[in-house]
Amino acid sequence: MLSKSLTQTFTPYPWQGNEWETFSNLLDTGKLPHAVLISGPGEIGKRQFAMALAARLFCQSLLDGRPCLQCKGCTLLAGGSHPDFFLLELADKGKSISVDSIRELAEFTTKTPMLRGWRVALIDPAEAMTHNAANALLKTLEEPGRDTLLILVHQQRAELLPTIRSRCQSFLFPVPGQALTIEWLQSNVEVEDYVDLLEKACWRPLRAVRIAGDGALDQIIQIEKVLADVAAGLLSPVLAAEQCKTIPPAELLESVLVQQSNVIAAIVKENGTPSRGHFLFLDQLIVARRQLASKTNPNPQLLIEELLFGWRRLQSQLQSRPQSRPG
Ligand SMILES: [Zn+2]
Repeated sequence: MLSKSLTQTFTPYPWQGNEWETFSNLLDTGKLPHAVLISGPGEIGKRQFAMALAARLFCQSLLDGRPCLQCKGCTLLAGGSHPDFFLLELADKGKSISVDSIRELAEFTTKTPMLRGWRVALIDPAEAMTHNAANALLKTLEEPGRDTLLILVHQQRAELLPTIRSRCQSFLFPVPGQALTIEWLQSNVEVEDYVDLLEKACWRPLRAVRIAGDGALDQIIQIEKVLADVAAGLLSPVLAAEQCKTIPPAELLESVLVQQSNVIAAIVKENGTPSRGHFLFLDQLIVARRQLASKTNPNPQLLIEELLFGWRRLQSQLQSRPQSRPG
């Protein structure tokens, strides 16, 4: 089944030039593997890259090696009706990709391509597959049939069966460099300080656009203030959690996670050594994110309180610790 949420633009982002060249070379030399795993942090444009790759395979009149966006192949893909394209994604956030969906995908790969070209199946996010779904995919990954490309998009660090990984060729997409990102941001959002926006977005361009656009920036500023107040002992973790009640727990957690990652990165950049507490708190955040995503934690509010206690504890440790020196 095809989804309406297909990305409308099928060109790679400016910061994906190297990756695009790599894939183009593999394709031109007939070395494109039949299953690829595109892995990397969220909101850096992995899905769009995968769609651009699909468009490149379907396009009937490439322009400088890029999809023309005009031909039958491109048009069908853009309209979400290309018969040789199969997209598996999450219909609702938090749900998983079921074994039945994987069976549909497997059946798709046994059919002859309607347009006598490539068949492309895209699974995004691959980590959303249930254990059974992932196991059901193994056989298709091994023998997907001729002229078939399976693209798995995967959020770095999310769990994925080793047997899935080993059957795909992995490509790690990094967080893009600042220069290209800022240039792109300038033509997409209007803010006063692009570096500040990127910092709040953990250097992920699509997140930067999202938070600049939907008022999330105010929310982040509110979270930063709450964290500062808790750190200074002006606000108890319980009251702080109460104040943040209107913010969805997942977003609150993500903001704190971004901030904590930035803090650690800044210390390392200055040749300092982050304390053990920094990493423990980061671990706590990552575990909490997993719990929230899997809905195994029955009480998100309590989880946020625990996090704020963790944050307070870290700040107390840092305040009582002798100043760390670079070196
Ligand atoms: Zn085309």
